[in-house]
Amino acid sequence: MNIALEARGLTKEFKGFVAVKDVDLTVERGSIHALIGPNGAGKTTCFNLLTKFLQPTRGTIIYEGRDITKLAPAEIAQLGMVRSFQISAVFPDLSVLQNVRVAVQRKRGESFDFWRSERKLSRFDDEARRHIDEVGLADFLHHRAVELPYGRKRALEIAATLALNPDMLLLDEPMAGMAQADVERISALIRRVAQNRTVLMVEHNLSVVASLSDRITVLARGEILAEGDYATVSRAPAVIDAYIGA
Ligand code: ADP
Repeated sequence: MNIALEARGLTKEFKGFVAVKDVDLTVERGSIHALIGPNGAGKTTCFNLLTKFLQPTRGTIIYEGRDITKLAPAEIAQLGMVRSFQISAVFPDLSVLQNVRVAVQRKRGESFDFWRSERKLSRFDDEARRHIDEVGLADFLHHRAVELPYGRKRALEIAATLALNPDMLLLDEPMAGMAQADVERISALIRRVAQNRTVLMVEHNLSVVASLSDRITVLARGEILAEGDYATVSRAPAVIDAYIGA
């Protein structure tokens, strides 16, 4: 197996309470991998550990063969593993194009400057438009972010994330709060961006998880209950108990 991300013995304690316990997780390169489980299972904590928004109590995280356990989120992003919404790159009063341009500009290591002339910024346009096209927002180029419907705003956040050229994308509940039409649109978008990238997501919507994921890890009480494709994990007695008992 070609491994993109690997966690070994990942553990997080909060003042003696073990929220994530000895988790071993392997995410295959090029796959869509979902982390699911009932409320309080430790999904968010696990996600925050993997992206280093939290420091593990114990355990090791390897990304593309490199130990990232001690790195900061920004350093990990530089290596190509980017958490969507990490960069809070969406400025409500800027247009779609301006927002993605800012993200491209940042990726190139230039400090962000609101006052820079449009003309100077326009050299980032080609790249910005590529990311905007990829997420299906070409018709919204000059709409202000604040005016976008919710699902489109999420797509804009993903476009801004793509501007960082990630090989691996981590999505934290991409479908949260979405109407069905948006769920379908964002599902198609995730499938598209995953064609040449690895995706790890925490997601509550099980029909989305079933239709998108190559592999699923089920957590409960901080531990892995089951792993496999949807058919496998949804049949596992421990998983059924955890969901019904939750
Ligand atoms: P999930 O995302 O699966 O709902 P979480 O990772 O948010 O689960 O939480 C797992 C457990 O860890 C819960 O019991 C929660 O109360 C606890 N927890 C999460 N964050 C903290 C924290 N900062 N301090 C103390 N307990 C926490």
